[in-house]
Amino acid sequence: MSGKRDYYDILGVEKNADDKTIKSAYRKIALKYHPDKNPDDNTAEEKFKEAAEAYEVLSDTNKRARYDRFGHQGVGGASQGGGGGFGGMNMEDIFDQFGDIFGGSFGRGRSGGGGGPVARGTDLRIKIKLTLKEIAQGTKRKVKVNKLVNSEGVTYTSCKTCNGQGRVLRVQQTMLGAMQTQSTCHVCHGIGKIIDKKPAGADNQGLKRQEEVVELNIPAGVEEGMQIRESGKGNAGPFDGVPGDLLVVIEEIKDEFLQREGNNLHYEAHVSFIDAALGESIEIPLVEGKAKIKIEPGTQSGKMLRLRGKGLPNVQSYGTGDLLVHINVWTPKKLSNDERAILEKLRKSENFKPNPSAKDEGFFDRMKNFFQG
Ligand SMILES: [Zn+2]
Repeated sequence: MSGKRDYYDILGVEKNADDKTIKSAYRKIALKYHPDKNPDDNTAEEKFKEAAEAYEVLSDTNKRARYDRFGHQGVGGASQGGGGGFGGMNMEDIFDQFGDIFGGSFGRGRSGGGGGPVARGTDLRIKIKLTLKEIAQGTKRKVKVNKLVNSEGVTYTSCKTCNGQGRVLRVQQTMLGAMQTQSTCHVCHGIGKIIDKKPAGADNQGLKRQEEVVELNIPAGVEEGMQIRESGKGNAGPFDGVPGDLLVVIEEIKDEFLQREGNNLHYEAHVSFIDAALGESIEIPLVEGKAKIKIEPGTQSGKMLRLRGKGLPNVQSYGTGDLLVHINVWTPKKLSNDERAILEKLRKSENFKPNPSAKDEGFFDRMKNFFQG
């Protein structure tokens, strides 16, 4: 076998098949070769992936048009002679695609074993607010989540319409004679089980809503808007299925002093022009605690000091950012008569006249410094 098979052939549809036909053809193949039903069967897995790829292209108007004109090369999956080269999709993508095809509850559950398809619970999403300190260290937190859980007292029975197979065979009379086709069982929707008994309060999937305390494990270095997936902590899977995931969306509580930029932090320090001229040691807030830094005599406003490793850890644990301290020289707004007299005297001194060309950390030096780290 050389190259890839034709996508239409894979799904067994005509070139002019409409979306509905393509979807239903894919559904049949995917159910037949689903890894849950064919554990450790590599041929089935290949067929499953092949069908997913074909469906991915043919279900998308643009991709399908490109495929029709240019073949596999038109959709990125250049034919590689050796065959079997499977481009962009992994199993995860394929199971995600299922949500759309199988109407939500049939998905990636793979731990079920034993024959029939496994229903997967839906994902839940919550938001949590974190301080910089919690972000810097990573945190565990218990939150109350209102989720679907398996209702006690629900019993299942094998679906009689499909004998627990989740799909039914249909014999159709065609021009070529009787043909067997498989379709998803309309009674159990492919699950193979139906509810036998359920208590009041359980929905028609045997689930009920309940508040549960879930322990979250937030890694260090997360950022505003980031989504953490807590696997298996979402809604219960109906029919003894596997639970969905809990998606935790991170919100950052603004720190009073420190501003975040990626893994770096910025702090605006204000020093008197006397301290800037004479030098002084000043206190800087850190994510936790404080640090003293030295202001050298003759420090200019706008100078930046870098405290290495005092920023935030990278969420993938590639090092830690820095704390960048920006020095602002504070000009007094009110002066007493005595102070004014002193300053009037100093005004005449050559040393108090700005001289940016003197060898000193000017703006461009500072920028260079900044970008070189
Ligand atoms: Zn059934």
